[in-house]
Amino acid sequence: MKRRDFLRFSGSVAALAAAARCATTTPSKARVVVVGGGFGGATAAKYIRMWDPKIDVVLVERDPSFISCPISNLVLAGLAGMGDITRSIDSLERYGVRVVRDEAVAIDPGKKTVRLSRAGEIGYERLVVSPGIDFLFGEVQGFEQAMQAGRVLHAWKAGPQTTALRRQLEEMRDGGVYVLSVPLAPYRCPPGPYERASVVADYFKQAKPRSKVLVLDANPDVSSKGPLFKRAWSELYPGIIEYRGNSRAVGVERNSMSVRLELEDVKGDVLNVVPPQRAADLAAKSGLITTNNRWCDVDWRTMESKAVKGIHVLGDSTLSAPAMPKSASMANNHAKIAAGAIVDLLNGREPQPLKIINTCYSFVSRSEGIRVSSVHEWDPGQGTLVAVKGSGGVSAARSEAEANYAWSWARTLWADSLS
Ligand SMILES: Cc1cc2nc3c(=O)[nH]c(=O)nc-3n(C[C@H](O)[C@H](O)[C@H](O)COP(=O)(O)OP(=O)(O)OC[C@H]3O[C@@H](n4cnc5c(N)ncnc54)[C@H](O)[C@@H]3O)c2cc1C
Repeated sequence: MKRRDFLRFSGSVAALAAAARCATTTPSKARVVVVGGGFGGATAAKYIRMWDPKIDVVLVERDPSFISCPISNLVLAGLAGMGDITRSIDSLERYGVRVVRDEAVAIDPGKKTVRLSRAGEIGYERLVVSPGIDFLFGEVQGFEQAMQAGRVLHAWKAGPQTTALRRQLEEMRDGGVYVLSVPLAPYRCPPGPYERASVVADYFKQAKPRSKVLVLDANPDVSSKGPLFKRAWSELYPGIIEYRGNSRAVGVERNSMSVRLELEDVKGDVLNVVPPQRAADLAAKSGLITTNNRWCDVDWRTMESKAVKGIHVLGDSTLSAPAMPKSASMANNHAKIAAGAIVDLLNGREPQPLKIINTCYSFVSRSEGIRVSSVHEWDPGQGTLVAVKGSGGVSAARSEAEANYAWSWARTLWADSLS
């Protein structure tokens, strides 16, 4: 096919696809309720309305505003402010999404209703659940009490703990030790802890050069972009970052400010312990968890739960497909699979599997970044999404260009998901 013919062909395929999405037959009363206005839920609500304005979409979010985990590590290092990572989800109303500020407390899949803590029950034709993660606090003895006392923080959901941890780092004496404890994978954002260690080390290098970052990793080795992170640490932060693999935190002692490992206790001035995680409480209460008491398995062609029909689960709550990270990039893509499938299902069409792309940037200093990306496609034989061989990869080296792309990536993702 000549290039001109190909362009005409692909243009008409796109036009046909768009026309198919617009020529809807949805009964006017079909309602989709979306719980969770983060990367997964907000994107799903917006795209369902964009692809079929006849569907009534209600987005339930308990927090007053959206605070982004991506870029939140820069706030800890004093390289960005909370204002940079805080967004409103009200702009979704211009797509016709009805935003309800409330907490979903129970789901009745038989009656097809969601109970809200203040506004009573709301009925749905299809339900989307994208509530993120909650923590297995019981796996780190003493953590929850230490956290409630404000002594030990995770800051693994951006918000008040991000501000509090920044304050602890600012107040730490020069010569102090910042201990960052990483849980066994899978957890939210595989490269996130290593980015955090890097940018906090950058802050120490400028502001408190005698201080140290001690990474206690439950995993045997740096589990994402390992060679790039380790090279940055040895070249940029010699004597500042110390990394120890196979070091799982089993407890926290807030009086002596120490993290208990299986064989020893490690003291620090600031303890930042990230506990193991599972699908968020709402998924757990609603029978959506299918695997290891932690994650929700889904049909990757539609994101529909394998446990409860009519409910689509997105984002970090899902049992990740092979080689798929728990990332904002993925949650945003899960939402597009679900939105397309829901529009198709409500219009009596067979949903078609989508190919999706993950891109995760990490800062290794105030000015340099690194990247990992991958492409995932439906494999009918394996019945899941698999990483496309030969696609994606990591940056050749850290660079200023990658740090600039990281900011552009974040702004683009915020805009695509939330405005
Ligand atoms: C430090 C850090 C850095 C990160 N950096 C990156 C990065 O650079 N790139 C990247 O791709 N990913 C990154 N991530 C990961 C990313 O933040 C998550 O993967 C992403 O937020 C998952 O989206 P989600 O929709 O599943 O959950 P969330 O974005 O957490 O959204 C869940 C929403 O549901 C709401 N909710 C929960 N339960 C209820 C309920 N019962 N009723 C009403 N509302 C409810 C919550 O308030 C929340 O707003 C990072 C994470 C961390 C911790």
